Amino acid sequence: MSELNRVYNFSAGPSTMPLPVLEEAQKDMLNYHGTGMSVMEMSHRSKDYQAIIDAAEADLRDVMGIPDNYKVLFLQGGGFMQFSMVPLNLFRKSFKADYIVTGGWAEKAAKEAKKFGTVNVLASSKESTYSYIPKVDPANYTPDADYFYICYNNTLYGTEWQDKDLPQTGDVPLVADMSSNILSRKVDVSKFGLIFAGAQKNLGPAGVTIVIIREDLLGYADTTKTPILLDYKLHADNGSMFNTPPTYGIYMAGLMFKWIKSMGGVEEIQKINEAKAKLFYDTVDNSKLFKCPVAKEDRSNMNALFVTGDPELDKKFVAEAKAQGMVNLAGHRSVGGMRASMYNAMPMEGVEKLVKFMKEFEAANLK
Ligand SMILES: *Cc1c(COP(=O)(O)O)cnc(C)c1O
Repeated sequence: MSELNRVYNFSAGPSTMPLPVLEEAQKDMLNYHGTGMSVMEMSHRSKDYQAIIDAAEADLRDVMGIPDNYKVLFLQGGGFMQFSMVPLNLFRKSFKADYIVTGGWAEKAAKEAKKFGTVNVLASSKESTYSYIPKVDPANYTPDADYFYICYNNTLYGTEWQDKDLPQTGDVPLVADMSSNILSRKVDVSKFGLIFAGAQKNLGPAGVTIVIIREDLLGYADTTKTPILLDYKLHADNGSMFNTPPTYGIYMAGLMFKWIKSMGGVEEIQKINEAKAKLFYDTVDNSKLFKCPVAKEDRSNMNALFVTGDPELDKKFVAEAKAQGMVNLAGHRSVGGMRASMYNAMPMEGVEKLVKFMKEFEAANLK
């Protein structure tokens, strides 16, 4: 790694990618598998490209265990466009939906959905700067809701739903924004009606958004009013090729899925992620200088928040870490402090280097 002058990049997104994936893309750059052209230059209608998207879908289905009655869509528009597509497609009977607001992204999703139907915000942790995941009594769920919406991992605020707390919504389809934790942990896809994720956190470069949708939820968009490209069924019926898909982003995501397989699958990746998170949070919990502002039981394995309590000292930490090759550790502008994003592609060595530096910094700066 060092001979390439690569840093440990703790960015929340776009974020670090595995070196073998980047090297594979480099190898393919000028001449993909003897085609005489790069993937960027290929027609999306070509046989060569069809093989790339087919392999990406097959590998995603394999690593995530996606049942046959779910469609996989490769779309554009980022996670944000799903804030509109979800209500435009899933409001279909009562035009009511339940939302749990656990951070800025869930808040924006709820606000957008209000344009199209009745949004019941069952709970919000906004009053405590989203430092925990509110637990809601199922008696308060809307029984005839068209869907129930959560943001699985809160990128800005460092909280993540734990499996045991996931809402048990019965016949109401559970919708999850997994933009920042997809493929970081084992998930039972059959518990969800729809899962979506923008790629640039855990799946590759920005540009492609993955939607996994149960087939019975397709076909409810009002096609007389819904902008044509915002109808899931159109994309499902056309294999994500109604118009030009984000071809290069899909290719890169496909390389990421193959890399996850080569690492032993999501189960093995999850073990590494848990070990990284444990090392990091143990260090913070044993520190006299650093604190984690997030409720212990809701801490994210992907985005770890920490503070010294002194904004000047935080700045000094971020600057000195950068000088040592650990970059993008400043917290989101709405939160401050520090944030270490430890997505799948962040190796254990990166977190080891970070906690070693935290201890040195503490020894040098604790008064
Ligand atoms: C980054 C992010 C988004 C927004 O993604 P864009 O691709 O920028 O639209 C939505 N939800 C979550 C959880 C995110 O982390």
